[in-house]
Amino acid sequence: MSVKYIFVTGGVLSSLGKGITSSSIATLLQHSGYSVSILKIDPYINVDPGTMSPLEHGEVFVTCDGAETDLDIGHYERFLNKNFYKTNNFTTGQIYMSVIENERKGKYLGKTIQIVPHIVDEIKSRIKLAGSESDFLVVELGGTVGDIEGMPYLEAMRQMKHELGSKQVISIHVTLIPLVRAAGELKTKPTQHSVQELRRIGISPQILVARCERGLDKELKCKLAMSCDVDDDSVIVAEDTESIYKCPLNFLEEGILTPIARFLELGELKPKMDNWDMLVKKIIAPKSQITIGFVGKYLSLKESYKSLIESLIHAGANTDTRVNIKWIDSEELAENLSLLHDVDSILIPGGFGERGIAGKLEAIKYARIHNIPMLGICLGMQLALIEFARNVLGIKEANSTEFDPHTTEPVVYLIEDFIDTQGNKQLRTHISPMGGTMRLGEYECHIKKDTKLFKAYGGTSLIRERHRHRYEANPCYRTLFEDKGMIISGESDGLIESIELKNHPWFVAVQFHPEFTSRLQNPNPIILDFVKHTLAHKKA
Ligand code: GLN
Repeated sequence: MSVKYIFVTGGVLSSLGKGITSSSIATLLQHSGYSVSILKIDPYINVDPGTMSPLEHGEVFVTCDGAETDLDIGHYERFLNKNFYKTNNFTTGQIYMSVIENERKGKYLGKTIQIVPHIVDEIKSRIKLAGSESDFLVVELGGTVGDIEGMPYLEAMRQMKHELGSKQVISIHVTLIPLVRAAGELKTKPTQHSVQELRRIGISPQILVARCERGLDKELKCKLAMSCDVDDDSVIVAEDTESIYKCPLNFLEEGILTPIARFLELGELKPKMDNWDMLVKKIIAPKSQITIGFVGKYLSLKESYKSLIESLIHAGANTDTRVNIKWIDSEELAENLSLLHDVDSILIPGGFGERGIAGKLEAIKYARIHNIPMLGICLGMQLALIEFARNVLGIKEANSTEFDPHTTEPVVYLIEDFIDTQGNKQLRTHISPMGGTMRLGEYECHIKKDTKLFKAYGGTSLIRERHRHRYEANPCYRTLFEDKGMIISGESDGLIESIELKNHPWFVAVQFHPEFTSRLQNPNPIILDFVKHTLAHKKA
């Protein structure tokens, strides 16, 4: 069948969960036997979120092909259990950059370049590219209807419906029904205004997803349907839930597939959600629980650790365990190690910059000495090397050039001017061109047999995981490390990808970001193994 488009817009205010709504709809279609792709459009001018501060944007999600994307792409991968690519997310910055580059090359044959048609045409061609080879493309437009920067995208959606017809294109509007406590009433007025705004620009949504604190009664649903000109069965209520993974099940129960199937002429849809349902039950009411000490520095901003938090939920669902996270501010920890006394294991996530390093080093030492399971990720692995060099090898000056560019003991080093094992300076050439200076995206990692990493990955010796970093372990120190009981368990093209300790129950650190490949139905092996060992440690 030719690709069908489902456009998802947001009304009233942001942060209503358009990403989760879109992921949930895509999941239901996928479990009904269709191939589904997604596209997230970000109307901001930045070319990608790679250079934005975590304060601005939350996590930067990295795709296998090395694109730095919006964190919603992470939700799509986690829900749909498949990889997405550069083409599944674009920004206004990218659209304008392409059009201006084409103009400079003379591709528009002397025409005046305008938002309509040139910008809108570029948007439409990128939407079509993202949908090629799928039965469905779910397109989520970031921001809220009424935003100036969203206008060209709404125009593109309107035009696509005009071109392809109403059996190929539908529009879903996610909106808020606020509860006015003083009156004890749910209010539909903001939604009516938002839909009016959409209609003014030529888009009539066929389905409304109404976010609210508590359910709408039939009367209110009918009122909303009447005032927004949608069918009575096309007002779908989305109440707050205990777990985002319950949303597809709630949507199914609310009957969202009935209007979708009717408008797109699909016949009856019967998604197979048994396995999903079982995992959600384990998230909500698991048999066991553990507490992981999460030593980070953006703790007021949990959004910047989104994928890692979700990957722990996946590992928990697949081991029937609630993974409680004890958030430990690394700066506070440096003063007060007792914060680690009640945790079952320690997790050192990725990060940038020197702030909070001392506390993380203390946490690593604590895990190493007290035989507590520890997983270090990216910066976490680099710090595990520094800790080992300082406290086991006695190299007191050991450091990363990220924190001290002039350190005499660069255990962690910038990859652009890498020192090879013979002590020669080498320029690495395989740095991804995206973003310029970081090693981004998926790389192969060769695993050493009979290591913890090897066991965790089910006895495979070749894996592929994703990266986002500038610095690398310096191979000059390799033999020193190995002589004192550190195992280099993974390597990629001569780079040290993972380490573990010989005389420790479970101390593993990896240069890659395993959290980017974890999915509810397919948890990441090393995170799963970390959770299993945390559980075992707790029981012991
Ligand atoms: N700051 C370190 C580097 O750039 C680690 C990055 C990370 O943890 N993602 O190499």
